[in-house]
Amino acid sequence: MSKMAKTIESVRSWRRETKSLNPEAVLGLVPTMGALHKGHEELIARASRECDHVVVSVFVNPTQFGPNEDLEKYPRTLDKDLEICQKHGVDLVFTPAVDEIYGESSRETTFVDPPQFLIDKLCGEHRPGHFRGVATVVSKLLNIAQVERAYFGEKDYQQLIVIKQLVRDLMIPVEIVGVPIVREDDGLALSSRNMYLSQEQRIVASQLNKALARVEEEISSGDKNIEQITASVVADLETKYGFNVEYLKICHATNLSFLETAQEPYVVLIAARLGGVRLIDNLIVR
Ligand code: AMP
Repeated sequence: MSKMAKTIESVRSWRRETKSLNPEAVLGLVPTMGALHKGHEELIARASRECDHVVVSVFVNPTQFGPNEDLEKYPRTLDKDLEICQKHGVDLVFTPAVDEIYGESSRETTFVDPPQFLIDKLCGEHRPGHFRGVATVVSKLLNIAQVERAYFGEKDYQQLIVIKQLVRDLMIPVEIVGVPIVREDDGLALSSRNMYLSQEQRIVASQLNKALARVEEEISSGDKNIEQITASVVADLETKYGFNVEYLKICHATNLSFLETAQEPYVVLIAARLGGVRLIDNLIVR
């Protein structure tokens, strides 16, 4: 049976008990916003394999949503989330209320600001304040759970890089583990937001992943420069399939600097809107 915890104190006392029974126990944390799908399940399964005990947090973090984003309508499916955690033998499911994490006002908390060079581009450029909210809540969750390992998806690649930098810079004693993207059969990266797609949009959405593969193929064939390649892929996505592309960039895989010539390890990153739904994806080339 997975235990439920709504308070910081109950997570702390679970941790104390667990460590008193076995001081060597390796604890793992999987932070999520709920609406769990097979992508989250992969993180949980990996954590369960690699750790003695696993905590999953389910918290829709208000500070990482912009004023016109989907905070209010973000899917909440707690009963199903608990079943999934149960199935994977998760020890503790932490489902705090907003004021447990932020006190009276989430605007008057201490914030953690990631360095500009990591967030002035890609999703950070299009979602001002987003990574500040992410870095803040992840710092809080790591300080609450005090685990040895924390698991994050490569799906949110810029987030993963920001968090790795965060734990280095703030000397948080935790290992950050990146988990490869889980996809639908047609290549669409699983996301809680996919449920906003209409049937027709859902079919078209897989073109995003195909576009990344095309960028990689054209880079490796060496005929064209990066700008020509990305411009023609963006044009196809917009005119043939109706996407509105926010960015399609080739970045260094560890520091996210933009590359003019692709040198491995690099990552191809894309964000695009289909109707009102914002989708992101990436392809790491090592
Ligand atoms: P979220 O609930 O969207 O905040 O996601 C929680 C964690 O699951 C993040 O570390 C995501 O990167 C990860 N995640 C979400 N979708 C996927 C996916 N399709 N494959 C791998 N990880 C994912």
